[in-house]
Amino acid sequence: MLAGVLSGCGAPAAPSRAPLFRFLQINDTHVDADAGKDGYEKADEKARWLIEAAASGEHFPKPDFVVGIGDLINGERLDALAPDLRLLRDMLKPLRVPFYPVVGNHEVIQQEGSPKHEQAFREAFGNDRVNYTFTHGGILFIALNNAGACCVGPAVVKARNDWLRRTLDGARGVPKIILCHIPLVPLREEAVLAKSFGFRSYIDHDGATLRIVEEHADSVIAVLSGHLHLTGVVERKGIYHISIAGTASYPCDYALYSVFPDRIEAAVRQLPRELVTPGTNIHGRPRYIGDFTDGAHKTPWDYVAGNPPERDFTIRLPKEPRSRKP
Ligand SMILES: [Zn+2]
Repeated sequence: MLAGVLSGCGAPAAPSRAPLFRFLQINDTHVDADAGKDGYEKADEKARWLIEAAASGEHFPKPDFVVGIGDLINGERLDALAPDLRLLRDMLKPLRVPFYPVVGNHEVIQQEGSPKHEQAFREAFGNDRVNYTFTHGGILFIALNNAGACCVGPAVVKARNDWLRRTLDGARGVPKIILCHIPLVPLREEAVLAKSFGFRSYIDHDGATLRIVEEHADSVIAVLSGHLHLTGVVERKGIYHISIAGTASYPCDYALYSVFPDRIEAAVRQLPRELVTPGTNIHGRPRYIGDFTDGAHKTPWDYVAGNPPERDFTIRLPKEPRSRKP
């Protein structure tokens, strides 16, 4: 437990070299049982590589668990959800560590809160894997379904926010990381991002979700997301909002987080060269006739992959569970 490690007293310890634990973020893998039709180039091959890499520890240190932050499958049609999820479950078999899935818009075809659309996800991962929490090393991880983003009714959004508020209120002072597929803040200049992403859901437009999170800024370390198919980090009110491009489209990223008593080191990496597919870039050519940049991202690469400090960064942890010493 993080709390246990922090309970030692005496002279300040030297910075620790071995992390307390590591976890891997995968998202936007868009696994597609019907591959070859409209899916992303090599999507299944990429997802398989990443899961097998996590299982073997051959390409990066083995994580203690994996979070799958949405759009793990391509889905698109109600009758495609179950076959895509079956294929994903099959791919996950080599993994010997816990896998925590988060609902993305592709898992439910944007229909957040619809039992009919959530059925295949619940059958694949369990009935308790839509809005849920788990604890690791003294950190509370909160998996939130905000897959509806801009396009669901007020009752659904209220149910989401009520659950989130209850969950946060029930764990005051506990360091938290929120996992939700759709980012709560814009990860690029908003007008540019709206254009390059091309869908209204470039951000969770329900400001209440963000407000509730920020009311707990003293204990929320980070919000981890995906959905945008670009990699970016924005710090706002002391909370790190991190969105990882995911593997289906260029730059084909995943992220490994190493948690130490006083910090989290994040490393965003591309898949191996043979699985990097420039033609799948959704923020530039060939989807558009040109590429995109914004004030802080001066080249097309920086725009889609993030500046170097968005790919390797350290989150300091004043939000340590000091009050939870054993
Ligand atoms: Zn998405």
